[in-house]
Amino acid sequence: MENHDKPAFTILGSAAAEGIPALFCDCRVCREAAAKGGPEVRVRTSYNFGGDVQIDFGPDALQAWQGHRDLLRRMRHVLVTHAHEDHLQPTDLVYKGRWFASVAALPSVLEIHGTAPTRERLAREIWFGEETFAEKFRNCGLAFHEFKPFDSFPLAGCDGFVRTFAADHWKKLDPCVFLVTLRGRTAFVCNDTGWLPDATWDALAKLRGEVAIDVAVLDDTGMLAGAPEGPAGSDVWTRGHMSAPTILKAYDKLDSLGLLAPGCIRAVNHFSHNGGSTHGELRAFYEPRGIVVGHDGLVL
Ligand SMILES: [Zn+2]
Ligand SMILES: [Zn+2]
Ligand SMILES: [Zn+2]
Repeated sequence: MENHDKPAFTILGSAAAEGIPALFCDCRVCREAAAKGGPEVRVRTSYNFGGDVQIDFGPDALQAWQGHRDLLRRMRHVLVTHAHEDHLQPTDLVYKGRWFASVAALPSVLEIHGTAPTRERLAREIWFGEETFAEKFRNCGLAFHEFKPFDSFPLAGCDGFVRTFAADHWKKLDPCVFLVTLRGRTAFVCNDTGWLPDATWDALAKLRGEVAIDVAVLDDTGMLAGAPEGPAGSDVWTRGHMSAPTILKAYDKLDSLGLLAPGCIRAVNHFSHNGGSTHGELRAFYEPRGIVVGHDGLVL
């Protein structure tokens, strides 16, 4: 829960690309989610950290804004993990322009941080008149800052600092996972990714003693696939995305590298209905193992 000392980490959405119940799908997970509602229903994954820092800005950004308006109007920075459509909705950013938002709700320019393919997608999908990319962004009250995997940079105006690491995901997008430190609290945002690349593990290992993760959220697109408790005959997910057996190993490794603060909140998120488990089934598996199952609106 948020207190005045520590910035809250809010899960705004907890699904992979199709949502749950998923568009056009009538699988068991989607049917049960439709029937039960509550935390079984998931929109696309994004997070907010301490108000100031938004992580990903996908097709459900409007819904997040409507549900968490007081929190999101403190947004100063958007960190984009990668340019997949469930994590980035370029055209909605334009509505920060004064012809759309007639009275500005945000305190300042919104700083968008992403890799080069993210900038390319913004340039391709935002509509431009005679303006250049820079002019369009300025006119909309936006700024773009490019980062690469294995970068680090401060977040102006909010005592924040970001470290980026290569993810094991759609390589052409230069996807990244992040360590975000905000006002003394560090979050590890670890989707979308499979088992992390060796270079990322090496870079993380070097941070021992320098960084302690207070809240970690790992990619669980494959849910319980490959675990005895998962769907019969399912294989473990290790590449591109993870499932439970890979996640348990990843938490063991983070622990053995000395990167988890005492009392670190270990969580999983970014679920696909194709993983084959309901929220209730995920909780039954993870909670005895000390891992929190993400759901929309959960504050960590
Ligand atoms: Zn995704
Ligand atoms: Zn489904
Ligand atoms: Zn993705």
